[in-house]
This record gives sequence, structure tokens and C-alpha cells, in this order.
Amino acid sequence: MRLSAFALATTKETPADAEIVSHQLMLRAGMIRRLAAGLYSWSPLGMRVLRKVENIVRAEMDAIGALEMLMPAIQPAELWRESGRWDAMGPLMLRMTDRAEREYCFGPTHEEVITDYVKRDVRSYKQLPVTYYQIQTKFRDEIRPRFGLMRAREFIMKDAYSFHMDAADLDREYRNMRGAYHAILDRMGLDYRVVAADSGDIGGAKSEEFHVLALSGEDELAVSTDGAYAANIEAAKTVRPEGERAAPTGELKKIETPGVTTIAGLAEHMGVPESATAKSIVVMGESGDPVLLMLRGDHSLNEIKAQDLEGVVSPLTMADEATIRTHFGAGPGSIGPVNTNVTVIADYALANASDMVVGANYDGAHFTHFNWGRDHPEPQFADLRNVNAGDASPTGTGTLEILRGIEVGHVFQLGDKYSRALDLSVLDESGNAVVPEMGCYGFGVSRIVAAAIEQCHDDAGICWPQAIAPFDLVIIPIKADKSAAVREACETLYTELKAAGVDVAYDDRGLRPGPMFADAELIGVPHRIVVSDRGLESGKLEYKGRRDEQSSEIDHDVAAIKAV
Ligand code: ATP
Ligand code: MG
Ligand code: MG
Ligand code: MG
Repeated sequence: MRLSAFALATTKETPADAEIVSHQLMLRAGMIRRLAAGLYSWSPLGMRVLRKVENIVRAEMDAIGALEMLMPAIQPAELWRESGRWDAMGPLMLRMTDRAEREYCFGPTHEEVITDYVKRDVRSYKQLPVTYYQIQTKFRDEIRPRFGLMRAREFIMKDAYSFHMDAADLDREYRNMRGAYHAILDRMGLDYRVVAADSGDIGGAKSEEFHVLALSGEDELAVSTDGAYAANIEAAKTVRPEGERAAPTGELKKIETPGVTTIAGLAEHMGVPESATAKSIVVMGESGDPVLLMLRGDHSLNEIKAQDLEGVVSPLTMADEATIRTHFGAGPGSIGPVNTNVTVIADYALANASDMVVGANYDGAHFTHFNWGRDHPEPQFADLRNVNAGDASPTGTGTLEILRGIEVGHVFQLGDKYSRALDLSVLDESGNAVVPEMGCYGFGVSRIVAAAIEQCHDDAGICWPQAIAPFDLVIIPIKADKSAAVREACETLYTELKAAGVDVAYDDRGLRPGPMFADAELIGVPHRIVVSDRGLESGKLEYKGRRDEQSSEIDHDVAAIKAV
């Protein structure tokens, strides 16, 4: 691309209304322009990055056999009434009526439409499993659209949906999809974490999120240093409100407890009243065997002694042994390895034994604990929360890290929620009607452009990972107006590099070197070649990688350039 014909529109000024660096840099680099709250146009420069992201996503979806298709952005209200989400979605959904007063929405997601599509198409088990995906524009009337493309109202998502004869097959595809998300993020070279997540409005049993780590991220992630435990804090503290249980109100908070080495010490440190009863304590160890300890209402916390955990737990009668076996790998009432989701444990504990759950990591020297619970009429529980919320001794290093992340992907096992609601069934081998199991898998195609910038920038601008950079390399001529040799060398290099498959930009705008260098750095081109008379005389070119401190000399030769 010749930059003289590329309508590059960079600016030095930091836009006043842009709070985070990706938003500032996308505006300064001229990648996007704001039209109205949460609505942005993509410039040709921004579009090059967006297309590269899309192509990576598309390639990895195709690689696992997902089939690309495209659904309408506008969706009829009836479908959403059938699934029960027309009302549930509330003001997040943009609604409209046509000239015949029929109601529609601009799709915030496509579970209903894809289920309807499959319903019309799929009759037999022979047609399953199948996974469809699209890369398409969504609209969500976010309460607080902000941070540019990070939380826009109109944005681009890759959404995939899979349909299966049974839960085991759904699980298989869920893993495939997870693998594809790893591949996508690995290709982009971003630092990310996968965390257990809350399924929210979408519903379903199991879900995980992919988060690009960045301090500006809106989500907090609780991640153990050995990577064995990772959850969005939202999920870690949400105990699903089934039955009579109220939503938890305790704050999940990281508190270091240096010097505390016993359960009793932990209880004391937390200010748990000796009279407190009906508690559960979940201890998650970082290394070695983590343990689960639950205490029923007829035992007081005061009875807990670290040396005598078994004794305390043994009177416990578990209402659901299978859950304990599956999730805790131990028999009822025993202390067993806990290598599973703390949410499951908390959920179980709240349902069966307690009003308060304490989770802790124990590294052999310290507990790092977090707690959550639910409203309880008895004051000691409220006191307990206050003690924790107001605790001023949080120093030292713990084993449970709280990281900040940007949610870029979300994979769900939906089960039969939508297929059942929309009456989708297929015939199995014996001719019986079966309601298919369904998975859905979202990826923020436009959001990840902003997320990548949050992670990859410096004072001069964006430092794109090569895979999604708008150009691989930029050629910058020095005094081209005075030197035919420089002009010719640039033209030749430009042509040869293009022919060699390099996505090359040639800055032929006739500017002084300063502004050309500044633009190349601002828009984040990973490689820069400078062509000058002096270099040409010695057969050399000046090369600088975007993150290099100094430029270096390389041979004036396409192979040498491709090698950097
Ligand atoms: P968030 O928690 O950030 O609101 P979400 O959980 O509502 O996201 P999902 O319904 O899981 O989003 O949608 C799948 C993906 O779409 C998200 O992982 C995210 O990458 C992207 N996404 C969701 N909302 C927005 C938005 N307002 N702007 C840009 N991308 C978005
Ligand atoms: Mg949302
Ligand atoms: Mg979310
Ligand atoms: Mg989500």
C-alpha cells in the first residue's frame, strides 16, 4: 500500500473523552471514528487489522470443522417470546417495529435464530453433530458504552453454535472449541487466561471465559499461581440462586494472613465468633493435596483444630454423595483432594450445610482467603463480613492472585435450554425423538483489537503483534525529493517485497523523516526499513523493529529483510 493513497489520518492530540489507552490510540492512529455513543466507523487502516483478526478466527473455526454461515441482524420477536428472553433481555435489546406493526429486535446474540434454522433443516441423528458459525454485527444497548470498541453498542462478534445427540458429544465439541480459542489467541501472541465463568442470561450449565490480561480490564479474575484454579470473580462469588437460597452478598476479597498456619488461626484472624455455627470452610491448597472441610450446624467453629480435621468432619452427612465424589474425589464426610471449581464447592456447601463459605489457599505458611456468603438474620454473619471488609493487615504474597482481564471469548455448554424451548427434536437410531444438546461460543472480534492494544503499546503508540498488524513492514525514504536513487530503490523494494508476500506499506507521502517515523510508530508497524543515499552507497538498509531501542544495518536484499 502506498501511504499517499491510503487516507492515513493520524493526530498527535490525545482525545479528551477517551479514558483508556486503546481507545486513545485507536482514535489517534485514525483506526476508528465515533459516530454516536457506542457507534464507530472503521477506517481503511482499522479495517486492515479487523480483517486480520477475522481471518485468524475464521481459519481456526474452519480447522475444527465449524461451518460458516450468516444470519440476519434483525430478528422477529416471536422467537424471543418462545425462548422467554423477549422480556428477560430488558433494555439491553434494541427493539423496533415494521410498517405492519410487527415487532423485531436487532440481535444481541443468535441462539434463537440458529435453533430455528436447525429446526427447519435437521431431522435425523445422521445430520448431527453440526457446528455453525458467523462473523456478524451485534447490537446491545449497553448501560454504559465506553472505552471505544471495548464496550461498544454495535460490535462484531464471531458466534458459533453446536448441536449434539448427547451431552458427551457436546463436551467433545466444547473442548474442540476451547482448543480453537487457544489457537486464535496464541497466534495473536497475547497473554491471556481461561477462567470459570457465570453463564448469566444465556443460561446453561458450564461456561468459561477467555480473558486478555490488562490493567484496564473490567473483570477481576481469581487465579491460583499454579494455574490450577481460575475463575472470574463474578463466578467465584456467585452461588446460583436455586431453591430458596438468596444470592450471596459477601465480598470476595483477597486478604493475606502471614503467620496464620491453622484453620483455627484462620478463623481467629477472620474474627469468626466462637459461638458461630453452621459454617463451611473450604480450604484450597496451592500445592500438595487441597482439602475440603465442612462443618454442620451442630458443631461450632471453635471445635476446629488443624490437627484434627477428620474428627470435625466425620459427623457430616452429605445429602448428595455423588456430588462430593465427583467434585471432591472423596467419600462423604471425609477430607479429600479438591481440585475443582470453588464455586461448585461453595454452591454445595451453601445448599447443604452453611450460611457462609470461606475459601482459602494455604501454601504451607499462609492462608490467602476469600469469603462469601448470603444474608443471614443472625448478626454474627454480618459481623464476619464486616471484619473482612474492613481488614487492614493485607500484606505479603499469597497464592491466589487477583488479575484484571478483558473478556474476549466465552464458551458455553447450554444443554437443551433453547432446543427444548423452541421445540427442536431429531430422531435417534431407534426412531425416538431426542432434544439435542447445544453449545454456544462467542468471540469479540472487534473487542480483541482494542484488547490487543491495551496489552501491546508504548509511549509512541501501538506495537501490534505481527499476526494482526495493519502492515508487516513500512519503507521510509529519506530525502526522496532530492534523490532519484532513493526513489528507485524504494519502488523496487516495494514491488519485490509485495511479490514476496510481505504486507508492505511505502510511505511515499513526501513528508520529513520525523513525521513519517512518528506515524509508523503510532500505527504500530512491526518492522521499519529506512532507505537513504548514504545507506545505498554501502549496499545497506537501516532496519528497526517496533520494539527495538536502536536501529541496525541489514543487507539491501529481500531475503535479508524477510529474515528479520
Ligand atoms: P461483557 O461481560 O463484557 O459485557 P458479555 O459476557 O455480555 O461481555 P457475551 O454475551 O459472552 O458477552 O458475548 C461474547 C463476546 O462478545 C464477549 O466475550 C466479548 O468479547 C464480546 N462482547 C460482548 N459485549 C460487547 C460489547 N459491548 N462490545 C464489544 N464486544 C462485546
Ligand atoms: Mg455484557
Ligand atoms: Mg461477561
Ligand atoms: Mg460473556
